[in-house]
Amino acid sequence: MSGKSTILVVEDERKISDIVKLYLEREGFRPLMAGSAEEALRHLKQNPDLVVLDLMLPGLQGEDLCAMIRQNSDIPVIMLTAKTGEDDIIKGLSLGADDYVTKPFSPGELLARIKAQLRRHKRPYTRMSFNRGALVIDVLKREVIRDGEPLTLTPSEFGILVSLSERPGRVLSRLQLVNMVQGYDFEGYERTIDAHVKNLRQKIEDDPKNPIFIKTIYGVGYKFIGVKDEE
Ligand code: CA
Repeated sequence: MSGKSTILVVEDERKISDIVKLYLEREGFRPLMAGSAEEALRHLKQNPDLVVLDLMLPGLQGEDLCAMIRQNSDIPVIMLTAKTGEDDIIKGLSLGADDYVTKPFSPGELLARIKAQLRRHKRPYTRMSFNRGALVIDVLKREVIRDGEPLTLTPSEFGILVSLSERPGRVLSRLQLVNMVQGYDFEGYERTIDAHVKNLRQKIEDDPKNPIFIKTIYGVGYKFIGVKDEE
C-alpha cells in the first residue's frame, strides 16, 4: 500500500475522528483532520488523495461540501453517515461520493474502503500515447514528446495538457482547469487558461487553427480530442 497517501477526514465528533486518525496513522497514512466543512475547504488546498466525509456537520453540510469538491476534482470521497435511510445514501452518491460507510462502523471496515478507493483511483496511466505516437505524455517524468522531439512546456501548460488528456472527450471548463492545475484556488484566474492553451497549441498542434488535440468548446471550455493508442 502506498504509505504516503494523505486522507482528509471531515468529522465533527471528536471521539470518532480521534479513532480514525489513530488507525490512519498506524497504517502509514497522513491524516488531515477537519471538524467542519469550512475547515475542510482549507485543508483541500493540500491536495489530499481521498476525503472521508461525515454528512452531518455543523454549519455547511457534508452534502454541500461533496458537491463543491466535485465541481473541481475527481478525488475519491467516502461518506460517513449515521443516516441509514436509502434516500440519503442515494443522494450522497448522486452528489458524487464514491462509497459510503454507515455509522456505527469499525475502523477496519473504513480502512478497507479507503484502500479500495485509493487502488481504484490510482492514476491509471503514467505514460500516455496519442495519434499513433505523435504525442506522448509521460506524467511521472513530466515529459511531452511530439513526433519524437521533446517539448519544453511551462508547468501550467503541462498541467493543462495532462488534465485534458487524462479525460479524453470530456469537456472541462476554464474554472475546472484552473483548479486542476493550481490545486484548489477558489479565486482562480480563468482568463489565463486561454493564454496557456494558445501557447500550448503552438507547441503541440501542427496547425493551431485546426487543432487535432485540444478543441475549444465555445462558451464552455476545452476538450481533448486526440486518439489514445492501444497499450
Ligand atoms: Ca457529525
